[in-house]
Amino acid sequence: MRYAVGIDLGGTFVKFALVSENGDILFDNKLSIGGNILREDILNTVSKAISQVIQKAGESNVEVIGIGLGSPGVVDGGIVHGGADNLNRWENINLAEIYSTEFGLPVFVDNDANVMGLGEAVYGAAKGCTDAIFLTVGTGIGGAIIMNGQLYGGYKNRGTEMGHVTIDHKGIACNCGGRGCLEAYASTSALIGQYSELSGKKGEHINGHYIVEKFLDGEPDAVQCMNEHADYLGHAIAGFINTFAPQKVIIGGGISEAGQFYIDLIKKSAFSYVMPDCSGFTDVVGATLGNSAGCMGAASLVFRNCN
Ligand SMILES: [Zn+2]
Repeated sequence: MRYAVGIDLGGTFVKFALVSENGDILFDNKLSIGGNILREDILNTVSKAISQVIQKAGESNVEVIGIGLGSPGVVDGGIVHGGADNLNRWENINLAEIYSTEFGLPVFVDNDANVMGLGEAVYGAAKGCTDAIFLTVGTGIGGAIIMNGQLYGGYKNRGTEMGHVTIDHKGIACNCGGRGCLEAYASTSALIGQYSELSGKKGEHINGHYIVEKFLDGEPDAVQCMNEHADYLGHAIAGFINTFAPQKVIIGGGISEAGQFYIDLIKKSAFSYVMPDCSGFTDVVGATLGNSAGCMGAASLVFRNCN
């Protein structure tokens, strides 16, 4: 059995795990990187995380063959080029070189959403599938495309920004500089904004969890907002299905764990807009790996790239 270090770098935590090739997690943990810390501090925290996993592997008498890393931003050739707005000066960093030099192991890096999608495709909701689309619905909307069993990133891995397809060409401004993007309408943040506006309710306690609870209670404002949320996502997913004919569309992110009803709502919406000829082999499902998707996907980068 082969083992790898899986690192999932987010805006607030570095999550890390020792993962076997068949998807068992022998050890996992996380370290905080929250606050206004420097790029060097983030690099050091990731280094500490890798050290912890390698130490645990030693204690378990297993040998690590490589390090996989999911990072926010545009990643190509082991380098984060930019686009990770939540991390301080997280651009033009050759993560593969830094950590392969430090640890003497091969290092493979990809975008965090890509890595999560790969994790779900290899070990989770789309296990056994060759073609899948992954969407993570949270503060923003990220995504991944698995095509013929491989991550597809477009030329120089610059693509698959699934949250930034236009669903309203005269719509509201998006964080990306565009207009009418899916993310601006269907992220959890957007849902909270829509609900606050409709209900007049404001405050810290208005979050995705709260709206889901009110929806299940049948509160009219929550029902209307959740139905619209599902409708926005359904429109975009129908487009993805018509384009890629995936076997699975996987919905991840915190709100996707609300329950099967949430996935069913989106699935019903998507299937009311798809072309039947494109969607005959497609299912819309919830992610199954939860918080482990990133670390497992990162580890699977190692297994598929190491001989
Ligand atoms: Zn956008």
